[in-house]
Order: sequence, then structure tokens, then C-alpha cells
Amino acid sequence: MLFASSSALGFLAGSQLPGSSVTHVRAVGPTMQTTAVKHVTTKSDAIMAEARTLMPGGVSSPVRAFKSVGGEPVVFDHVKGSKAYDVDGNEYVDYVGTWGPAIVGHADDRVLAAITETMQKGTSFGAPCALENELAKMVIDAVPSVDMVRFTNSGTEACMGVLRLMRAHTKREKVIKFEGCYHGHADSFLVAAGSGVITLGLPDSPGVTKGAADSTLVAKYNDLASVEALFEANEGEVCGVILEGVVGNSGFIVPDQDFLEGLRALTTKHGALLVFDEVMTGFRISYGGAQKHFGIEPDLSTFGKVIGGGLPVGAYAGKKEIMEQVAPAGSMYQAGTLSGNPLAMRAGIETMKILKQPGTYEQLDRQTDKLINGILEAGKAAGHAVTGGHISGMFGFFFCEGPVKSFADATASDTEKFARWHRGMLERGVYLAPSQYEAGFMSLAHSDEDIEKTIAAAKEVFAII
Ligand code: PMP
Repeated sequence: MLFASSSALGFLAGSQLPGSSVTHVRAVGPTMQTTAVKHVTTKSDAIMAEARTLMPGGVSSPVRAFKSVGGEPVVFDHVKGSKAYDVDGNEYVDYVGTWGPAIVGHADDRVLAAITETMQKGTSFGAPCALENELAKMVIDAVPSVDMVRFTNSGTEACMGVLRLMRAHTKREKVIKFEGCYHGHADSFLVAAGSGVITLGLPDSPGVTKGAADSTLVAKYNDLASVEALFEANEGEVCGVILEGVVGNSGFIVPDQDFLEGLRALTTKHGALLVFDEVMTGFRISYGGAQKHFGIEPDLSTFGKVIGGGLPVGAYAGKKEIMEQVAPAGSMYQAGTLSGNPLAMRAGIETMKILKQPGTYEQLDRQTDKLINGILEAGKAAGHAVTGGHISGMFGFFFCEGPVKSFADATASDTEKFARWHRGMLERGVYLAPSQYEAGFMSLAHSDEDIEKTIAAAKEVFAII
């Protein structure tokens, strides 16, 4: 079962995991249980109750609603370094990091000072701004396959733009994506998609036109034969292949080197483009992204998250001869009122300056290794089937024997156990993505103490779930 409702999980008012020393206190109508004070969420609950009357599901993005893990989400008040603080004053070691961008830590003083300085000049120009050149040069210098960049406001927009460009360049309409990979919420990508789409069990959203869905072909991750078969059955019609260079949207899944090399060869053979969606992996897996880590040169790439340093940014980028087809250099249209926004550019630039300093990726790698090994060892010691890993500061694990090489393998994971794990960790001050089908993120601000605290909490939770 992919989806567990909160009632099925038994997260009732004042509920407690069996054997748990932590009581979860929750407002129930006009009264509140006051049997313990460790994880009080009264204010969060009240805000969420109101939010549900104002916004669908009470949220601006679905996974935040905690639907697949049950219970109410906590409402954040502020974030700093490795920590998030909710409106009830609870502190969490945060491994979501605003879904990846907070790689240098939340609200880093250097990034804040830079944004504050830039803000004195205004918040939006709607005209060219020198900071765009600076951030574009940083992306071009970091990623060998990139000669030119178009900035957008989100990863979704970047993926929408890149798909139109793939089609414009090749004059072909069909695109190959992988089951469980997420490339934002554009129609063409909401076919066998990952992230919240899997989490909520909505693989093919209503509202997606048949035309859009029919031109999206779905292959199996780490299975080159499935891609080859689609190319053969659609000879001359496929504009390209888009993938997450390391999957984060069906949980954390690592590609085989042969698979990536095979995709490069197959796309070239069929006159199609290879596109790495590096919205999550860019400047995360390494400074040059997943493509640099695995030594693959795609034709085009998308970015987001880290390159905006916590402000809304996306980008698509690649070889000059392809990128110059984008308007106004070329005829493929795509635009944005706030694209290249100075505040977002500056936040990205300052974040990337920090990342460029020697030793940063080594630190992310070392800390994440310690964390994931600690969690896996604790899980196994408590008798659970667990499998997982990390590359640099991106990690994840599944509640199954593994190995997990594709979305189909990921569905073997015990999502109900994950829900109990998630709630247990939350109650002990560790904030993890509220879905089995999401990756975790380490930042440069996470200390040894944070990691030790997390592993200690994991031991307690594994003992009771
Ligand atoms: N592509 C990938 C690989 C992503 O992980 C995401 C978001 N998690 C997106 C695209 C969409 O980005 P956004 O949420 O900024 O629209």
C-alpha cells in the first residue's frame, strides 16, 4: 500500500508510539491533553486547521501536508543553520533543507548580508541585471556541458522550457522519461511521475490532456533495454531522454554507470537529445552535478534549488547551438516577468561562492556517510530490513532488503513503517521528508552533535516501530 491515512496510523490526540517515551500533544476541539510537554503542536494544529479552509489541503505544495505519513504537519516559524523551529517553539535538526536549496545551512549570514545589500537597489528589475551574467558564468564554469543558460523561477518552469527546446531542436514530439522520476508539474511530465505524485498515489493526474500524455513514453530506470525498445518502437519520433542523474523523487536511487553511458550512446545513435534534470542534483552531488560525478556529457540540463540559494530560481542550459534557438536569439518562445530576479541571483551567487571553497563537498560526503551508516546500522541492529546510501550530501533509505534500482523496487518498501519512523523522529526533534519517496539533504551547517543526536533518536525509534 502506497498511502496510509492518518487514522489508519492511529495518530490520535495525545497519541504515542508503542513503547515511546515521547508523548505527542495535540489540540482536540476546545480542550487539549496536557499529559506531557515534550512535543506540543497546539499552535501548528490551529494554523493548519485554518489553512485547510483557505488553501487546498492547507498547503501550497502537496507533500508538505504529511498525508502519506499521517498526523499533522508542523508549521515552521524560522530556520537557521541546520535547524528549523516551529510555531510552538520545538527545535528540529532539519534534513529537508527546504527540499535541497539550503546546502550551506539555512539563513546563512553571508547569504543574508548579500541579499540585504542587493535589496537596497530594489527587488525586481524586469530588465537586464549584471548579476545574471555572474550566476550564468558560475554555472557555465562548473558544468562542462553548459555554454549558455536561461533562468526561470522554478524547476518546473525549467523542465517545461527544456522540453519545448528538445522538441524545437529535433522537430520531434515524443519524449522518454523514467517511471518514478519527477520533472515538475507540467502536463507532459505528470505521467508515471515521482515525488508528491507517487506519495499521494496520483500517477496520472486528471487534467493532463491525452495528447500530452501520449507523447510521453515511460521507461524503467537502470534498464537500458526498456529505453532501447521505446526508441525502436518510435523510430524517428523521439526528441530525447530526460532523467534525474541520481533519483531523489522515488526515494534515493543511484544509476549504474553503464546505464548512463548507454543512454548517452543510444540518444546519439537515434539523433535524440540527452537531458539531465539536475534541479535536485546540481551543485549537490558535486559542484558540477550528477553529470560531473558520473562523467557524462548531456546535451541539455535543468537546474533549480541550490542555484537560487533559497530564493525561487530555475534554469535550463546546455550547448550554444541548441540554446541559441531560445527567443529572442531564436524562435522557441519562453519568458518570465520575474526571471533573473536580482535577489534570487544574488542568493545563488553567494551560496555557490561558499560551495566553491575547498573541502565543502568532502565535508558533506563525510557527514552524510556518518549519518546514513549510523541510521542503517541502527535499523539492522533492531531487526529491520533497511537499504540505503548517499552520494555527497544527498541520501536516503528504504524499509526493504533491496537493492533498490528503480521505482518498482522502491515500492517494496514498507511505507506504513516509514510513517511510524517519520513521526517518531519528528517527536524527537528530527525533521525528515514526510514521504518514503523523497531524498534527504545534508548541509554544511550540520554538526557532529546534530548527527549523533539523529542517530540516538533513530535507535529509539527503530526499537518501537
Ligand atoms: N525536477 C526535479 C528533479 C525536482 O526534484 C523538482 C522538485 N523537487 C523539480 C524538477 C521541480 O522543481 P520545482 O519544485 O522548483 O518546480
